[in-house]
Amino acid sequence: MSEAESSTAAQAVAPVQVHYCEVCTFPLEYCEFGSSFKKCKESLQKEDPELYDKYYSDEALQAKLGTLSLEAQAKLEKEAAKKEAKAEAKADAALKKKLASQVTIKRIERNKRKHVTSVHGLEAFGVDLKKAAKQFAQKFATGASVTKNLQGQEEIIVQGDVSGEIVELIEEGVGVLKGIPIDNVVEVEDKPKKKGGD
Ligand SMILES: [Zn+2]
Repeated sequence: MSEAESSTAAQAVAPVQVHYCEVCTFPLEYCEFGSSFKKCKESLQKEDPELYDKYYSDEALQAKLGTLSLEAQAKLEKEAAKKEAKAEAKADAALKKKLASQVTIKRIERNKRKHVTSVHGLEAFGVDLKKAAKQFAQKFATGASVTKNLQGQEEIIVQGDVSGEIVELIEEGVGVLKGIPIDNVVEVEDKPKKKGGD
């Protein structure tokens, strides 16, 4: 900034320029109160090193801490650590849930000649069920739709017996089926109860 510019800025009221964080969406001043402070800082450092320095350089932190009592500093740090631990625990729980989730592919015999295949549990892996149904319909040139099962949960019903093929698609991570661990996929068969012999 030139001398002329800085003196003008000093005289006029400097416009308030608010920078928003790309991670937590709050103004940068509030990042430290969120649960993603570490990520906020990393992102800013990458996107705008100059702005990062303004907020987080040693001098900036020193200047800021200088205005706080030691007690307040310790409290702030403790709170930040607590929030981060909480966010980490949450992410951990989400991962555990994902790992425990199961995709069930069921071959259902409607009658002697007709089968349908139900695919249940894809949403736990972030799969858009409608998109997956569309992919199945195109891939197998058959009908596929998202429906609610008897338990009120959404699942995909594909016309025909394509359970083996769907398992393969998941294994290969084709299209929207990317990223589902094959160990979490179970293939089952559902035959109508028979009265008497075959
Ligand atoms: Zn932030």
